[in-house]
Amino acid sequence: NGEFQGLGAVVTGGASGIGLATALHLAERGARVACLDLKIDELPEPLHGVVADVTDDATVRAGIEDAVAWLGRLDILVNNAGIGAVGTVEDNADDEWHRVLDVNVVGMVRVSRAALPHLRRSEHAAIVNTCSIAAHAGLPDRALYSASKGAVQALTAAMAADHVREGIRVCCVNPGTADTPWIRRLLARAADPDAELAALKARQPTGRLVSAEEVAAAIGYLASPLAGATTGTVLAVDGGMHGL
Ligand code: NAD
Repeated sequence: NGEFQGLGAVVTGGASGIGLATALHLAERGARVACLDLKIDELPEPLHGVVADVTDDATVRAGIEDAVAWLGRLDILVNNAGIGAVGTVEDNADDEWHRVLDVNVVGMVRVSRAALPHLRRSEHAAIVNTCSIAAHAGLPDRALYSASKGAVQALTAAMAADHVREGIRVCCVNPGTADTPWIRRLLARAADPDAELAALKARQPTGRLVSAEEVAAAIGYLASPLAGATTGTVLAVDGGMHGL
């Protein structure tokens, strides 16, 4: 029992961090959930794994078809797969720009394109994109990543307008720094990981990192039938950072 009973969901980047927490959140509330990711080693029950690369249209199409065959239907798409990039405009070469935009922006477009025909058949269709506070905060040393997430926020608004009349809602969440394997990898590479972690925490008025579960709960609300009147909405989950 739960608000997602009888619904089917696909979560991209669902093997780690925010994606995995979201998949578990939806499954605990009754959804059947397929996690689409580059590599699926082991997923907790009852999640179903589908291997696909969001930069490869053929694997995306096959992955969505596999997922829908297992789910029996598709009601919810969480476009969450994403990668980071560090640097100013002088630091990243053109091929790095193309690579990151291909994953973070065009990846969401490819997955949405493959999912939309299935979502149109749902009474409770929703897409939730994982964006970031980087879309608007002007974070230093994150030019490429910020540009990619700014594009995701604009894409969310445009898709919400395009699909509202066919009953498909499109929203996004803007996490602050969330405690996931991604951030742990970044910290492990820092000259002084403890000082870097303290700085990341201090940047958020709550004084701590956001948890993956807190982002998952926000995605879960936007994806749920309870949010049936909500589309084109950006939900900040950033420890109060956006108000500064
Ligand atoms: P993560 O690295 O723990 O998980 C990301 C997942 O995406 C991985 O399992 C990875 O394999 C998958 N992925 C990457 N490229 C892919 C591709 N080409 N095809 C399919 N899957 C691919 O990271 P996370 O922190 O959970 O991040 C998830 C999302 O949240 C990202 O979009 C990220 O930009 C966003 N975000 C994270 C934070 C944070 O602080 N962790 C803050 C704001 C936004």
